[in-house]
Amino acid sequence: MKGYNSMKKTEPITAALPIVAMRGVVIFPKMTLHFDVGRKKSIAALKAALNSNREIFLVAQKDLSDEEPKMENLYSVGVVSEIRHLMRLPNSDNVRVAVEGKYRATLKDIIENNRYLSGVTEEKLEKAIKPAEKDYEEALIRGVKEVFENYADMAFRLPPDMTIAVMSEKRVSNLTDYIAGNVPLPLEEKQTLLNELNPLKRGEMLCSMLARETELLELETDIHARVQESVDKNQREYYLREQLKIISSELNEDDSPAYEAQEFRKKIASLNMPESSKETLYAECDRLMKASKGSPDASVIRTYLDRCTALPWGKKTKDRLNIERAKKILDKDHFGLVEVKERIIEMMSVRRLVPDMKSQIICLLGPPGVGKTSIARSLSEAMGRRYVRVSLGGVCDEAEIRGHRKTYIGSMPGRVITALEKAKSSNPLMLLDEIDKLGRNYKGDPASALLEVLDGEQNYAFCDHYIEIPFDLSQVLFVTTANDLSDVPSALVDRMEIIELYSYTSQEKFNIAKKHLFPKQLKLHGMKKSMLNIKDDAIKAIIDGYTREAGVRTLERTLAAVCRKAAAKIAEGHSGKIMVTAENLTSFLGAVKYKKDVYDTLPMHGAANGLAWTKVGGEMMQIEVAVLEGTGKIELTGSLGDVMKESAKAAVSYIRANAVLLGINSDFYKTKDIHIHAPEGAVPKDGPSAGVTMATALVSALSGRTVKPDVAMTGEITLRGVVLQIGGLREKATAAYKAGIKTVIIPYESEPDIEKIDVEVKEFIEFMPVRTLNEVFSIALNKPSDSSSINTKLNESAPDLANLNNDGVGKYVI
Ligand code: ADP
Repeated sequence: MKGYNSMKKTEPITAALPIVAMRGVVIFPKMTLHFDVGRKKSIAALKAALNSNREIFLVAQKDLSDEEPKMENLYSVGVVSEIRHLMRLPNSDNVRVAVEGKYRATLKDIIENNRYLSGVTEEKLEKAIKPAEKDYEEALIRGVKEVFENYADMAFRLPPDMTIAVMSEKRVSNLTDYIAGNVPLPLEEKQTLLNELNPLKRGEMLCSMLARETELLELETDIHARVQESVDKNQREYYLREQLKIISSELNEDDSPAYEAQEFRKKIASLNMPESSKETLYAECDRLMKASKGSPDASVIRTYLDRCTALPWGKKTKDRLNIERAKKILDKDHFGLVEVKERIIEMMSVRRLVPDMKSQIICLLGPPGVGKTSIARSLSEAMGRRYVRVSLGGVCDEAEIRGHRKTYIGSMPGRVITALEKAKSSNPLMLLDEIDKLGRNYKGDPASALLEVLDGEQNYAFCDHYIEIPFDLSQVLFVTTANDLSDVPSALVDRMEIIELYSYTSQEKFNIAKKHLFPKQLKLHGMKKSMLNIKDDAIKAIIDGYTREAGVRTLERTLAAVCRKAAAKIAEGHSGKIMVTAENLTSFLGAVKYKKDVYDTLPMHGAANGLAWTKVGGEMMQIEVAVLEGTGKIELTGSLGDVMKESAKAAVSYIRANAVLLGINSDFYKTKDIHIHAPEGAVPKDGPSAGVTMATALVSALSGRTVKPDVAMTGEITLRGVVLQIGGLREKATAAYKAGIKTVIIPYESEPDIEKIDVEVKEFIEFMPVRTLNEVFSIALNKPSDSSSINTKLNESAPDLANLNNDGVGKYVI
């Protein structure tokens, strides 16, 4: 065995040795190292060394992933070591080896060998320390020891006897090699220390490396301590809470606030809600924990947490935007409504292209029973969204929309949040039904709360007073319904895209009843077509005789009544199929409820056919005028509203101003009392559109000219006799059509509305657009010479008219 003492030797040793490339380990002289070897070439090298003089060259490889490193992939300086011990590891091909470093050496050359790496090494002699440097060496040794002590204080995984070994070392060369070999420094730094042949320089380098490592360790310890602190706190809390829970359950107190609070905490943690909102709820859990069992406080907090955790935080359904499928669903459920279906399909098509588009708010506007609610339901089915309905009829307290503060006993969230809870998804189709029936009182204005709900800029963080934490409503598809938008605040109307649904014609009602309502009712009543059927003429008779509505709701109810009656008959033992016909209808439904509106066939005196537009559709409404001896009083009866009364007064004033031209005694306003009446006196009526009707009836009563019975009219008038535009022409025309009227006088400005009228109605009725009252009179009034055969109904009640008639006849020429 060669001895080694760099201080005394002058000639470097050269040797041909097997090589083991070390992965991530640098060995130093005098260092004992144990390591496992797996690579075949390395094991072969070790065996070759064992067979020779046990000496082997250990050198670190540069790239750890390199399986077969060549010379250029090895560091130049390594250590020639002696194998002390080698053993095969049980159950593997690996060997464990113990070596002792002997001297630094460089690899001069590689000796070609297929089985293992081997080469020629040359010893690297250390630089000797000059006598003049002895003091410096001494100081350096102290410095290194001090730095090492500091380091050892921070590093907790150093072998305990290492400090003793370090402290007893007297030579800087051995000291640095020993520390470098045993302290976990980065591989490159270790290699730098190995490369350095000047022990003093090596000592300086080691000092700075250890100082830096110490600093890093301090930082690491600091970070670790901080992490530990927060973990400890959480763990402590968790531990205590769990303990509390176990104690509660041991005491059979599964409903104790502490137990519940812990359960709520778990639930909240699993919810997909913003962290800040979670914090708010956790705070409530803490309050619940402190509350005593059965206290009102505990129950308030428990209810609150229940409601909050039941909300569909972040839960969404996937939209189905298959247009063909949507069309099928809409057609399956609804007859007609072509325009509405088209608009819905357009909306869905846009959504297909821009899925993230802020959702528009659709407002379905139309009379009751025309299918607004049910088309909204079909839309939700077509889009694959959950459906929830919020009824706004009669809501006059803001808190109903936005909730009560939870501090009040019995408080709860508003209807919007409640609906979402029911929907179990944060993107349902929410139907806000009857938005025009929202009231308002001293408790606030629900419409303004609704504005916030519907405003795309604000509703991503809607704050219910009860829930208190913001909820995102921006994904909800809002659909509203209304009968009439005139009373809805314009700010609300502006936010909505209005889709109008019109009242149905008899033909449409017939088709709806036959294709949808009757089969639906049959099914609901558990019957089949083979048990009960209804003839077409019976359906028509029901529509005309038992319903008077714009939609089909009463029609549906009446068909249900037919089914009920039939069910009763079957229960009573009726055998065979029951057939409902026009003839036997009364046995199912009793006497006919509505007689058909038919106009008087004889020319009328002092009466004219007006057309009214009510919220349930159109209606024909006669206006009657009686002229009586008196002192110029004007009497208005028939539950007329203010606007209607004013338009009656305008009509009288116009006639007074134009009395001579109209062939009327111009003193009438002093000598006669005028009574204007709208029949069906109990039904309130209002609006300016009866102006032309009242004027016509007045002129007829005052002048004696008769009114053509098959003419109906609508239009507002001014004091100068100009006829102004009116609304609801479609419904009014339908009413006239049902009554069999052939001519309808309409304001000139309303002419474009004729387009919206049903074809069937348009074909039957002639529309006469007029600009002035004179035109109305020339169409509606018979010529004085034709006014002899009058409808006596009114004449009898106004016996004094005869005089006036005579006065008027022939004076007014059209
Ligand atoms: P609204 O909401 O307009 O008051 P609904 O949607 O409640 O009216 O409709 C009342 C009934 O009439 C529902 O059963 C509905 O299915 C039916 N209905 C209305 N219009 C149609 C239609 N075009 N086709 C089939 N059924 C209809």
